[in-house]
Amino acid sequence: VQPGDTLFAIATRFGVRMSRLAEANHIADVNWIAVGQVLVIPAERSVAEPLPPPFEAVTLSEDPVEQGRTLVVFVTLAAPAELDADWEGRPVFLAGDGQHYWGIVGVHALSEVGFHELHLRAALPDGSTVEATRPVRVVEGPYGTETIQVDASRQGLLEPSVVQAEAERVRAVWSQVTPRKWWEGPFRYPVEPSRITSAFGTRRSYGGGPVNGFHAGTDFGGGVGTPIYAPAPGVVVLAEPLDVRGNAVIIDHGMGLFSGYWHQSRLAVQTGDVVAPGDLIGYIGDTGLVTGPHLHWEMRLGGIAVDPLQWVTESIP
Ligand SMILES: [Zn+2]
Repeated sequence: VQPGDTLFAIATRFGVRMSRLAEANHIADVNWIAVGQVLVIPAERSVAEPLPPPFEAVTLSEDPVEQGRTLVVFVTLAAPAELDADWEGRPVFLAGDGQHYWGIVGVHALSEVGFHELHLRAALPDGSTVEATRPVRVVEGPYGTETIQVDASRQGLLEPSVVQAEAERVRAVWSQVTPRKWWEGPFRYPVEPSRITSAFGTRRSYGGGPVNGFHAGTDFGGGVGTPIYAPAPGVVVLAEPLDVRGNAVIIDHGMGLFSGYWHQSRLAVQTGDVVAPGDLIGYIGDTGLVTGPHLHWEMRLGGIAVDPLQWVTESIP
């Protein structure tokens, strides 16, 4: 440990998770390490073990993967089986024909840097089950830090009870999984021409408080009344006024992928509407917890906020 070192910095330098580093060195309080202290760097499981049959191949769209990214997983089996997967204890929805599967995984923007494991389970026709693990290295995303000033009249919206009740409401919506894949190719921008005013993933502090969160979406500038369009096909599963998010719309794109549009002045869709790319869904506004009119565009995958712009610039899978 050198002067100025933190456990987090050391963990990042060696590509291990801070919790594993603390555990391996019996460090109870991660804020207390001493200059000159010698730390044992634990070996992370970094090399894929040979895959047991019927697993033939497990490939990833990127490896390592940055925090906040959508990771695509492709699995090939030598013989037909029912395949299940989970990441960080969360089920990953897989599409496939029994031998070739693919699925999308949301890597949390504050996910610990280091090796994580994708767990796969194949249920064979004879009733037996074979498990396989694929280590995936998560690296730091290119995210900055910002302070949000909230004016006094809207401070009440940061009341934990208000924030939590609303979080439950939206979580109930995007924790569902529609097996169908609605989208095809890259998403469009929801506002054209688009001017991005705040990037996804930025670490945030509110009113000078501690940095205790991150920006879960991409903000687009625009005057009140600027039209917002559906960027991809889907079904509207929420269209209502919320306290923090203001007038809000959530679209289900299938396979556990949802997009949210907050702070609108007026909504142009209702729950149950089927939307196509380019359909009007509402108008930019300044409702809810905002410092000025803008669209906050959020993408959720299995409940995890992922970078929406990846879906615009790339064709997933
Ligand atoms: Zn935002």
